[in-house]
Amino acid sequence: AKEQGRNTYQFYTEGMQDREVMRLELDKDLSQALANNEFVLYYQPQLNLDNGEIQSVEALIRWQHPRRGLLPPVEFIPLAEESGRITDIGRWVVMAACRQLAKWKGTPQEGLRIAVNLSGRELDDEDLVDHIREALALEDVPADRLEVELTEEIFIQNIEHNLNQLARLRQLGVHLAIDDFGVGYSSLGYLRDFPVDLLKIDRSFITDVTERHDDAVITRAVINLAHNLGIEVVAEGVETEEQLNFLKNHRCNFAQGYLISRPIPVADLEQALASGVLV
Ligand code: C2E
Ligand code: CA
Ligand code: CA
Ligand code: CA
Repeated sequence: AKEQGRNTYQFYTEGMQDREVMRLELDKDLSQALANNEFVLYYQPQLNLDNGEIQSVEALIRWQHPRRGLLPPVEFIPLAEESGRITDIGRWVVMAACRQLAKWKGTPQEGLRIAVNLSGRELDDEDLVDHIREALALEDVPADRLEVELTEEIFIQNIEHNLNQLARLRQLGVHLAIDDFGVGYSSLGYLRDFPVDLLKIDRSFITDVTERHDDAVITRAVINLAHNLGIEVVAEGVETEEQLNFLKNHRCNFAQGYLISRPIPVADLEQALASGVLV
């Protein structure tokens, strides 16, 4: 038994060491990624359920890693949050989104809004709002073309600081969205103290919304709550026609998910919009 215990232990530490080595290696690569221009934004459209139009797209980051291929955010964003590199990555995301909005001037994409994701860690940065203001000014893009998606985690810790950051963002004129709404364990009080433009109902409620009574009840309640507060609602993770119909019937404002489109490179987005396959 002793022998076995030791083997188990060794196996465990070797696994830990492998992970640690991989983490260090990835972190080293991450330190070069911005300079090497290895990040890319994919875009996922949001369908307006009232008029069938695409008015907004969410920017989702990917890392074109020189050896490992195209990496999704889950493989490097948590690491970047730990090391603090997320601040520079977030700045790049905001800048890239503004640059894209500027490029779309005078094209059929002119009216689109881009939503970017910011983690709580990014809100810690005192210069964040100034940076966003500068990026908008540099590219000569109106602030309301940009939307910032934040999760409820920002209402749990560092609340005073975060509310101040939100006030500054709002003053700047960017749209504010609460991402993954309903899974964040925060109080709803912030909706009263701090009006936001948009709630994004978390995918976990939408997946079984047409099969599970409780998910349907929650989804309807969130839509009604938001509307009574003058807030619009996006449903995330819409994958079926049945889900889409449910959301239309219950007056959800927007739908986002694989049914409409996966997140795609900008050229594919432009082509899809031009050919009308999305709407
Ligand atoms: P999120 O903001 O909740 O983004 C939605 C995620 O769900 C995306 O994964 C998207 O590809 C995926 N998704 C969209 N529609 C569907 C669907 O119909 N079915 C299913 N199963 N999934 C769907 P992705 O792109 O891997 O992003 C994961 C998370 O990484 C995001 O979750 C967001 O929290 C974070 N993230 C992405 N880009 C950035 C960024 O630029 N900065 C920061 N800080 N975080 C980011
Ligand atoms: Ca998001
Ligand atoms: Ca989300
Ligand atoms: Ca999420």
